[in-house]
Amino acid sequence: MNIPVKIQQLETQMRQWRQHLHQFPETAYEEIETAAYIVEILQKLGLEVHSGLGKTGVVATLSAGNSTRKIALRADIDALFIEEKNELSYKSQHSGKMHACGHDGHTAMLLGAAAYLSEQADFNGTVYFIFQPAEEARAGAKAMIDEGLFELFPADSVYGLHNFPSIPQGNFGFKTGAVMASFDCFEIKLTGRGTHAAMPQLGDDVIVTASQIITALQTIVSRNIDPAKAVVVSITQVHAGDTWNALPDSAVIRGTFRCFTPSLQAFISDEITRITDGLCQAHNIKAEIVINPENAGYPVTINSSKETAIAKAVAQELVGKDKVFQPTPSMGSEDFAFMLQEKAGCYAWIGNGSTEGGCLLHNPHYDFNDENLTLGATYWVRLVEKILVLD
Ligand SMILES: [Zn+2]
Ligand SMILES: [Zn+2]
Repeated sequence: MNIPVKIQQLETQMRQWRQHLHQFPETAYEEIETAAYIVEILQKLGLEVHSGLGKTGVVATLSAGNSTRKIALRADIDALFIEEKNELSYKSQHSGKMHACGHDGHTAMLLGAAAYLSEQADFNGTVYFIFQPAEEARAGAKAMIDEGLFELFPADSVYGLHNFPSIPQGNFGFKTGAVMASFDCFEIKLTGRGTHAAMPQLGDDVIVTASQIITALQTIVSRNIDPAKAVVVSITQVHAGDTWNALPDSAVIRGTFRCFTPSLQAFISDEITRITDGLCQAHNIKAEIVINPENAGYPVTINSSKETAIAKAVAQELVGKDKVFQPTPSMGSEDFAFMLQEKAGCYAWIGNGSTEGGCLLHNPHYDFNDENLTLGATYWVRLVEKILVLD
């Protein structure tokens, strides 16, 4: 593996950054200390730093030469509401919060690349280093875009890198097209006439209706969508009733759906409404359906072909062709999808290694593999040097 000496020399520093971030995790839009930590490092490196974009997002700019080409590299910085169960010297000090998705590692790898490039600027153009908040279900990427990310930092293309357990450490995954699923939520509120459980004829039963809706929604995938297309519709919450002998007057059903085809998002949403309305009409129940309450919802993550080919070539040169593979698209989702709606680019995977001992994403035993720090930083550096090539 061709890790530049100057990046090897940064390894101890990068481990310190990563483990500090791991020890003090902060969740969506509350990454105050995390952002301050990142800003301090970037300013010491002499980069131009813009903070407070998308509430707690940070963007640093580094230019060299006279080219107008611009590239954006993105790391997410937020943690999850999970109580860490690892026994590490740098175990989370924030109760109920931890970096269980490796965003501490993403941040450290990108800081490492910034540190190297600020000293060794073998490129011609501009690099934007994006440190994005609230990736976990709160759409921090969208918040940054809505506040003018790409007007302030008009990159030609944008790149993301996520660690992935079960892929051997040192391997990379690239795929053109849909690589992560869309993510949508729905909420169905049912209202009927509550009554004594012994006199059902006097009311309208929201529980029986809810049960039929839950069963009928399973037919969206099994009967209404081409079986060759991967789609998931899951009911994740059902709330109704408080006692043994009364039929309640309301019920709430919540759930999520995922797919890889943007047009199917609207279709599934229409089907949920159609099926729910039909059953509610049959049972004299009032339904209120909200798709994506609180602006939840991520698009499909779609990599553009040219940029993915470039990124893949960079990884192949770095680790060899045998360690670069094409992943099966993940049914999980990513708010980097919002950035890829605005700009061409590529979201790649870097193997985190074994899943033994619960080393799985969003597991209380997860820990980013520090062996990846210099490798990930070198990937970023080589990508910059390839795209913003010296003339
Ligand atoms: Zn995650
Ligand atoms: Zn993540």
